[in-house]
Amino acid sequence: MRPSILFPLFAPLQSLPGIGPKQAKLFQKIIGDKIAHLFWHKPLAIVDRRFSPKIRDVEAEKVATVTVCIDQHIPPETSRRPYRIRCYDETGFLYLIFFRAKSDYLKNLLPEGEWRVVSGKVEIFNAEIQITHPDHIVPLTERDSLLTVEPVYPLTAGLTQKPMKKAVHAALAKLPDLPEWQDPHWQEKFRWPCWKQALFDLHHPMRPEDLDLDSPCHMRLAYDELLANQLALALTRHKRKKLLGRSIQGTNDLQDTVKQALPFDLTASQKEALQEIQCEMASPSRMLRMLQGDVGSGKTIVAFFAMLTAIEAGLQTALMVPTEILARQHMATIKPLAEAAGISVALLTGRDKGKKREKILADLLAGDISLLVGTHALLQDTVKFQDLGLVIIDEQHRFGVDQRLTLASKNSLHPENHHKDKIADILVMTATPIPRSLLMTAYGDLATSRLTEKPAGRKPVTTRVLPLSRLEDVIHGLERAMRVGDKIYWVCPLVEDSEVLDLQAAEDRFVALESCYPGRVALVHGRMKGPEKDRAMASFSGKTDGDALLDHQHDCEKDILVSTTVIEVGVDVPAANIMIIEHAERFGLAQLHQLRGRVGRGDRPSSCLLLYGGPLNDVAKARLEIMRQTDDGFRIAEEDLRLRGGGEVLGTKQSGLPNFRLADLDVHEELLAAARDDAKIILETDPDLKTDRGQALRILLYLFERDAVIRTLESG
Ligand code: ADP
Ligand code: MG
Repeated sequence: MRPSILFPLFAPLQSLPGIGPKQAKLFQKIIGDKIAHLFWHKPLAIVDRRFSPKIRDVEAEKVATVTVCIDQHIPPETSRRPYRIRCYDETGFLYLIFFRAKSDYLKNLLPEGEWRVVSGKVEIFNAEIQITHPDHIVPLTERDSLLTVEPVYPLTAGLTQKPMKKAVHAALAKLPDLPEWQDPHWQEKFRWPCWKQALFDLHHPMRPEDLDLDSPCHMRLAYDELLANQLALALTRHKRKKLLGRSIQGTNDLQDTVKQALPFDLTASQKEALQEIQCEMASPSRMLRMLQGDVGSGKTIVAFFAMLTAIEAGLQTALMVPTEILARQHMATIKPLAEAAGISVALLTGRDKGKKREKILADLLAGDISLLVGTHALLQDTVKFQDLGLVIIDEQHRFGVDQRLTLASKNSLHPENHHKDKIADILVMTATPIPRSLLMTAYGDLATSRLTEKPAGRKPVTTRVLPLSRLEDVIHGLERAMRVGDKIYWVCPLVEDSEVLDLQAAEDRFVALESCYPGRVALVHGRMKGPEKDRAMASFSGKTDGDALLDHQHDCEKDILVSTTVIEVGVDVPAANIMIIEHAERFGLAQLHQLRGRVGRGDRPSSCLLLYGGPLNDVAKARLEIMRQTDDGFRIAEEDLRLRGGGEVLGTKQSGLPNFRLADLDVHEELLAAARDDAKIILETDPDLKTDRGQALRILLYLFERDAVIRTLESG
């Protein structure tokens, strides 16, 4: 239960005075829906209104707060010209300028012959002193309230500074005194303010340097956020540690059989990674390891051998992937190998319903299925294993931390099950090289195995960059390509994050290509029904997992696959050797690299064509140029980080990494390391958060909405 002292902070934003349903929607867009979310909304800049000269002493381009008498309204001659109001004091004249103004409104606001206090940026135009659209106009009695330093907040269309400031102030007024959760020595060392003071300071910057990310209030609050993050992770891991550990050791039987059936040898890098994984599985502690390897480096087979190891030890295993297509594809790869070794495998996706699903669930619980492949569907409560030993999560950035842990603790709750309190080892696989500091925020400390070489015989992919104006040529060029047996992926662009528009673009391209090459083109997109998707994929790859029956023989002969980015992650069709990406400039580099990684897998020379809509700015040009120059995923990720900044590449919602509101790892990386150590000590001395500091830390966790972790604390 959330401590009652925090209740007022987690009331809906709408409960603040002046925020109606319409405003609330705007706030929600950039801030959130709770009062506490306003606290994290940092000012971008300040406006100092304390400069209050006589008119004679104003300075151009500087904000001034002047006290003036309204002399005369001068309506414009034409509506394109501004409305002017002449004002004066004993030292001179000043004009207030309004564009598209209503004269009634202005006459009411600034009646001739009366005095007003006006604040805004002063300009000198045609030797006249002017303020265009003053920020504030108040009567003399309110003069003092204007002479302050004002924060300037980030906004969204439809929202202005005034309601934003009002909301933040109303929220700050609700701040309770909270017990201190920081270690007193640590806080003393940096002279950090208490939490309440820090928030107050954050929203009342007085000097430009108060906005710096290393100002005391920023440091304190960033540390609060990082500590909440690290403590939550530490608690989750601690909870896992309390569950019984076990050593998982294979016998090599199954692995040897599969090795015989494999058409290739593992690379040295694959062998090494596998050994690291098996070594950690064999130790009595629970594994949480990441397998990182560039696209096409062969992570799947390493994962499969790790699964065989667990199966040899009599345990079940699960492989979770982000898309249905990928689940089916992995199944198609694994099934023949598994069958050669006599292992029972099953596929479970959101598409499986009714009897079929029930049978799978029953078999899982009875231990009759050794290897389960699936999508998010694996996370459902009804999916229970008899004894799950190892979980593999592919392309991990699509899944959240909580989901990983949910899956790992899915052993049966049957009273006779001896393993119900055992938690599975976890191996997450990713092609995206993630900087260590970011990894730490997602997992705490995490061991990594890396695939550093690609399987031998990979042909380099020739990459070309062309303007979309050459589209016709490209389409006609496909004729020759297909004649010599090329198979082509054609990826359509993201349109403003809209799935519907994506789809439209892909459908249009499909129709256009199909009219050139009747019967040769397949279409696949995220909105298709499962079986439809399978059929499209199978018609292009020639592979099926047995479920997707092909209607006609000629279905198998599609040479062009038009798609939205559904094929981005992991799809493996070795015969495909040309990748065409429309509006390549709209994709992230990591994404382009992933897409390009879909070709260059077979014997034929491969190429990738990046079509861009012009004109491109310098950054966009540089990004496409990197794609042309290198095939090294690490270098591409580095360059992308350099060009776009970490936040945009990895802090985005697709990344599955935490998105900090106050902490910025470019500036606060050292604080992150300190927070990790702090969390470790807290766990050693007060694992149940029972001491006074522990109680205060619980409040911190709630404040940063790590409620889930606290629940696990309470359930023991
Ligand atoms: P990724 O790391 O991108 O997930 P995959 O696991 O999909 O890569 O492997 C890419 C392709 O390489 C697959 O077709 C797979 O069968 C093949 N492959 C994997 N390991 C080897 C190897 N050691 N030698 C040759 N081919 C391999
Ligand atoms: Mg893969």
